[in-house]
Amino acid sequence: MSGLAEQVVALGVIALAQLPQPQDLQASQASGDPDSIHVLVNRQNPLEPVDYSPDDLAEVGVRTSEPEPVYLREEAAEAAEKLFEEASDDGVSLAATSGYRSFESQARLYSARYAEHGVEPTDEFAARPGYSEHQTGLAVDVISIDNPECILGECFHETPEFDWLEDGADDFGFVIRYPEGMEDITGFAYEPWHLRYVGTETAAEVAERDLTLEEYWREPAAPEYDDPEPDPEHLRR
Ligand SMILES: [Zn+2]
Repeated sequence: MSGLAEQVVALGVIALAQLPQPQDLQASQASGDPDSIHVLVNRQNPLEPVDYSPDDLAEVGVRTSEPEPVYLREEAAEAAEKLFEEASDDGVSLAATSGYRSFESQARLYSARYAEHGVEPTDEFAARPGYSEHQTGLAVDVISIDNPECILGECFHETPEFDWLEDGADDFGFVIRYPEGMEDITGFAYEPWHLRYVGTETAAEVAERDLTLEEYWREPAAPEYDDPEPDPEHLRR
């Protein structure tokens, strides 16, 4: 090839590489940065560092089902407050039950169950420490005050509160993170009550396309942990 032809080919390669790729046209990509609102946490993607804790936690000023306050990262807390306010205006009876959980509290939760029941039932019950979205400060579990029998139960799906969230949570930047029938992708059975903050643009696209975050971000499915047993160092210390 002549020098000129080589230059033309090289330019062509550069031009192709600069064409927008389909994934660039969406609102966000998955991040490995625990401080990003787009951090991906699942059975294949623990938080790094594993004992990460956010430095901008804020008490969420909404009705809670427990005596303890619920904390989220500032941006998510503000969004949750707006969501609850609008829900209340629409006559929907939501309360928050669980927001940020530290590595240590997830370790306590997991270890207590693990000591009694072993790994499999415990993995079904709770994420391993370092693998919970609640540790990001971007996830909140909600309940229907009028339907206490459905707290953290699948029948939450039948409540008017869920209908309202399915319709409008994305307007406030939240997605229903563990949809029905997607366990082989998310690693979680259906959790209609678990909301994850990703910002309004991403949430709108995820809701519109009816996807899991793994699918939206074109990340591998995460049905399983790599290790059959949790890291003993991560159990209650
Ligand atoms: Zn949850």
